[in-house]
Amino acid sequence: MHSPLPLTRDVVLIGGGHTHALVLRQWGMNPIAGARLTLINPGPTAPYSGMLPGYVAGHYGRRDLEIDLVRLARFANARLVLAKTVGLDRAERRIFVAGQVPISYDVASINVGITTEIPAIPGFQDHALGAKPLARYAAAWEGVLGRARTGEITPRITIIGGGVAGVELSLAMMHHLQTVGAGSPAVTILEAADTPLSGIGAGTRAALMRHMARLGVTLKTGVSVVKIHADAVELADGARVPTNFCIGAATARPHRWLAETGLTNDAGFVGVEATLRTTADPLIYAAGDCADLTHAPRPKAGVFAVREAPTLYHNLRAALTGGRQRRFRPQKSYLKLISTGGKGAVADKFGLPLDGAWLWRWKDRIDRKFMRKFEDYPAMPKPDLPREMADGLRAELGGIPLCGGCGAKVGSAGLSQVLSTLPRPRRADILSQPGDDAAILAHCGQEQLFTTDHLRAFVSDPYRMARISAIHAMGDIWAMGAQPQAALASIILPRMSAALQNRTLREIMAGASEVFTAAGADIVGGHTSLGAELTIGFSLTGLSAAHPIRNIGAQAGDVLVITKSIGVGTILAAEMRQLAQGEWVEGAYHSMEYSQAKAAAILSPIARAMTDVTGFGLIGHLEAMAKGSNSQAEVEVARIPILEGAETLAERGVRSSIWEANRAASTLQGALKSPREILLFDPQTAGGLLAAIPEDKITYCLQAFEKEGEQISVIGRFSKGAAGVTLV
Ligand SMILES: Cc1cc2nc3c(=O)[nH]c(=O)nc-3n(C[C@H](O)[C@H](O)[C@H](O)COP(=O)(O)OP(=O)(O)OC[C@H]3O[C@@H](n4cnc5c(N)ncnc54)[C@H](O)[C@@H]3O)c2cc1C
Repeated sequence: MHSPLPLTRDVVLIGGGHTHALVLRQWGMNPIAGARLTLINPGPTAPYSGMLPGYVAGHYGRRDLEIDLVRLARFANARLVLAKTVGLDRAERRIFVAGQVPISYDVASINVGITTEIPAIPGFQDHALGAKPLARYAAAWEGVLGRARTGEITPRITIIGGGVAGVELSLAMMHHLQTVGAGSPAVTILEAADTPLSGIGAGTRAALMRHMARLGVTLKTGVSVVKIHADAVELADGARVPTNFCIGAATARPHRWLAETGLTNDAGFVGVEATLRTTADPLIYAAGDCADLTHAPRPKAGVFAVREAPTLYHNLRAALTGGRQRRFRPQKSYLKLISTGGKGAVADKFGLPLDGAWLWRWKDRIDRKFMRKFEDYPAMPKPDLPREMADGLRAELGGIPLCGGCGAKVGSAGLSQVLSTLPRPRRADILSQPGDDAAILAHCGQEQLFTTDHLRAFVSDPYRMARISAIHAMGDIWAMGAQPQAALASIILPRMSAALQNRTLREIMAGASEVFTAAGADIVGGHTSLGAELTIGFSLTGLSAAHPIRNIGAQAGDVLVITKSIGVGTILAAEMRQLAQGEWVEGAYHSMEYSQAKAAAILSPIARAMTDVTGFGLIGHLEAMAKGSNSQAEVEVARIPILEGAETLAERGVRSSIWEANRAASTLQGALKSPREILLFDPQTAGGLLAAIPEDKITYCLQAFEKEGEQISVIGRFSKGAAGVTLV
């Protein structure tokens, strides 16, 4: 997150529900100077539930109903913390987040939806799922569909809850199973009341019952579920409903952690006033299903979550600027469009039943229009360039933003030229050669390594950015077969108030310290200053028991291995331009955060040459190894592991800022025949280890990696040919 003006207040949105998604979009178009906006959500996407039944019925793909929060956060210039909120400390104004340091707030808002899980029923946790949250349900449903398609199972589906959600889902599931020819599927709804579908008109209810009869959905009313078994749902009267997929779709339940916040009513929902401010805390707002509108109670429905967005947007801004709060006035009745399995729907408003394909088309249009808000973001005006500019400025700016991480590195050709003008080290205790990953110093009879790295932030979450920077810095030490020892931090924070500086530094140091501690190293000091944008770097020493491994020494016959997938630079470049899918970006973050300590421990005793793959791309680092070893490296391009999404993006023409320089510096100048070949020049940040392993050690090596559950791929071999790289 980058702002030209100092940051002074933290606004934290907990949950990427419909209300917050719309608030973020509006904020992106009209940000408040000085406010740092943060979104916390467990995953990189949030489902739009209006399209959930259509997805289950097979009319939409999973991506059609997912709001991509990574793209949305980039548009809104918001920090994105991909983690689950587990609690609040309102006295200290901190949000507890699973697996990471607490996030501080000045103003916060909660929009985390509900769950339809029913943990109170014995066996539910082990043998059933809630229809919400969607991620687990969707994965399990796709598994059931797949096994039904191949005839591995005959679906026996039981849905607990005969409300609109349960009935809509039953129709959708039955429709999809019948269209894929899944044997003779059974779908049963279990409803505790004597009448299903409470809350809608009698005519609409009758229409939905007709659709259930048409598709063969069984409805049992007045029944009480007492236990869920692996193969059946047990009822209070002792009857057992054969089941191999059980879904909870009964009443909306609040998330349990909310009860500990002191913000909830007896039912566990967050009580809010008409302004959407919580009744218990003026600094916290809530919206959507998790909120209880104390001034005008309403059923849980997406329509309210959506309509609350303008009020919440206005009131969050007013809370930051001292403006007047607005009231949310929810409508009394609203149109319910309920899909009926195929491309049909029934409508319920003022008790009037309507039924037909035209209603589905109408609903489809409404839903797609909503989702388009998160697909096509308006282009925001860029600051005007000055009228008078020196020659070359426009060309230097190029058409694309400067990448972060290793994509922002200076190209290798220019760098080597400058470094070649430096005097050679004169001290006898400096043992390293040009091109080594880290300097090698003789110290008290031991060899000590010394390296430095800093990264222009490309992840908006400082905690995560610090973890990646620490892993990146240790790459040089691990690549030389040494143990990380002591780190000094160099941090540039964008201009912000003292309170925000403290918060940000705490997040950075917590992330870095966890990573260094796990690797056996300590942070011993550092230097922090304010500057244009967040930059995190570390200078690091390492100790080597044996002689450090160098990036030269590979011999003909050695096997070439790599321990991480490539493609990071392309995915990060795409993310900056809102071209990458959230899951791809999360995959790249996850890869960069992954420690190479175990991989290095296995490779170090056996590798003849080793390096870490970073800014100069796989080819740049391999060419240095091959030339330094006076060998030819034959790379099997098809065997190179690639991060999901990178090939698609490379094919679409996405390139990191330094890609051209990497390509120009390589001796491989022939036409690039595939996206994979394009990615050979892609800069990596916190990349994998690239090593030459003697042939007689490779079986041991691969078995050791498998035993440790670590990633490794054999991607080529060294031979006696001309020194350099060939692609096969
Ligand atoms: C099968 C089904 C069909 C439905 N169909 C419709 C319909 O057609 N029309 C309609 O109006 N309503 C419908 N609803 C109701 C609708 O789902 C909800 O009213 C709506 O999704 C509420 O939105 P929300 O913004 O409150 O939260 P949600 O959309 O549920 O979003 C909550 C977000 O918070 C995140 N989150 C959860 N826990 C945490 C945490 N601890 N920390 C951080 N983030 C967290 C989640 O990952 C998610 O991204 C349907 C519900 C179901 C079950």
